[in-house]
Amino acid sequence: MLNEVHRIDLPRIVLVGRGVIGSLGDVFQELGLQRPLVVTGRKTYEIAGRRIRDILKEYGYEPGVAFCSKADLDTVERIRKQAEAKNADSIVGVGGGRTIDVAKLSAEKSGAFFVSVPTNAAHDGIASSLASVKGHGRPYSLKAVAPIAVLADSGIVAESPYRFTASGCGDVVSKAVSVRDWRLAHEENGDYYGEYAGSLALMSSNLVMRNARLIGERTEEGYRTLLEALVSCGVAMSIAGSSRPCSGSGHLFSHTLDVIAPGAALHGEQCGVGAIMMAKLHGIDWGALRESLSVIGAPTTAAELGIGPETVVEALVKARAIRPDRYTILNKAVLTYESARNLARECGVI
Ligand SMILES: [Zn+2]
Repeated sequence: MLNEVHRIDLPRIVLVGRGVIGSLGDVFQELGLQRPLVVTGRKTYEIAGRRIRDILKEYGYEPGVAFCSKADLDTVERIRKQAEAKNADSIVGVGGGRTIDVAKLSAEKSGAFFVSVPTNAAHDGIASSLASVKGHGRPYSLKAVAPIAVLADSGIVAESPYRFTASGCGDVVSKAVSVRDWRLAHEENGDYYGEYAGSLALMSSNLVMRNARLIGERTEEGYRTLLEALVSCGVAMSIAGSSRPCSGSGHLFSHTLDVIAPGAALHGEQCGVGAIMMAKLHGIDWGALRESLSVIGAPTTAAELGIGPETVVEALVKARAIRPDRYTILNKAVLTYESARNLARECGVI
């Protein structure tokens, strides 16, 4: 066991706060990066991408710009080629989850460093080494590089639609469940469990729940708390070497909805609602979880997710099979249509 090498890649520089993108040139100099390629969406280019390019130019860099509209493998391949043609040593992902994921994977494939500049706080991919992209029909998660730097500008994030922020909270709060699922998998299925990574993910969830009001009132402190929690979740995954601390039964519910009701709601919104019900299965305080989501303004019911009650029931029943290798509470408390319906009713989801 002592000879087993557990490699952990973490960001070297993390800046969270209002106006931090103004420090990008300094960060580049400090890291010794030289040939950046900025990956962004067309709309995001106007909001932040152009500013990023101008900041880098002021520091004497000649950044290329690559546009990304879809998170699929073809886009990753196109940007990889662009990065290699430019001999880019760094890829700066500026945008929401989709752009960040494409930039991260392009960096992995071209051997460049990845710099993460999220423009919203919708999910925990902003500091993680994992990316989810579409390929062969359904979304799946791939190992990419951890960012060498993360610049999470709360001023920019505060300008994004609040729904994204609430979704990010749902993703973080759901860690209260995923960490318990992980522990359960350790106890009942012999899975590896890393207490440090688990504690970090759980702490992020507690932090967002404790600060629900500050987030719901859209305060600077609330945004910072959420961004720091999202970064911590990414770090927890890097320490664990997998998405395990951050993706449990609440996520299985969300992934199942993505298949049976595609496009209904955002990832974190679905994870939050799933986590309420999974928390009840775990016997933990699901009411507190629901209450904080409601204070934040994140969905807590099927109607708020834009789906019918029977879709919730179907997703609950099918969730266990969507990723059979991932042992969770759903393996222990196997749900039938009837028990799933009761669970959703008891939690006020349907
Ligand atoms: Zn997630």
